[in-house]
Amino acid sequence: MQNENSRMNRLLTVESSNDILPQYRGTPIGLLLEYHNLNRPYESYSNAQLLIGMCMDNRKHLHIPDNFAFIIRSGGANLRYSEFKVSYAIAVGNVRGIALVGHNQCGMVNLISRKEQFIHGLVDRAGWQPEAAEEHFHHFAPMFEIGNEIDFILSEVERLRLRYPRVLVAPLLYRVEDNRLYMIRENSGGSSQELDYDAHGLPG
Ligand SMILES: [Zn+2]
Repeated sequence: MQNENSRMNRLLTVESSNDILPQYRGTPIGLLLEYHNLNRPYESYSNAQLLIGMCMDNRKHLHIPDNFAFIIRSGGANLRYSEFKVSYAIAVGNVRGIALVGHNQCGMVNLISRKEQFIHGLVDRAGWQPEAAEEHFHHFAPMFEIGNEIDFILSEVERLRLRYPRVLVAPLLYRVEDNRLYMIRENSGGSSQELDYDAHGLPG
């Protein structure tokens, strides 16, 4: 994993409640981090407190109490095509916060590298014609490609904050090696374009 070091530099660990960023303390985002990372004893809930957006990947399991959260799972934790469900969770479900949880080793990164596998898999296992499978891939891959897990989560969080300005939205990352949640570091300054650690790691 050659980019593992640069990735870790963009993540903030949560090993105690003091590690939780001030803006998330005492909020459902902070509770999520405490339940999952810090073994906070489960409280009982009758209503959802939080909307969690996370990838459909099978390697991830959250430790949270029953009824605590709505969860929308989609490739890459991409909520761009789930907007009605997000709106519903806020408007009718009364959630005040959204945790957007990306993860490393996400299959929605570099989809083009799995094009042949995708086409052959649909032909062999689903009975598709190769031409239809290829067209399907070309139609949808650009919509679901996320490029880079961390950058995608940050851009998607920015979009959600603009769309739902009164809702607290937090960028998080689930690391599949240790099954822990991390907060993603955000550039706070507006004008000073800080270079991120990833700048020298990735080809494009
Ligand atoms: Zn994924």
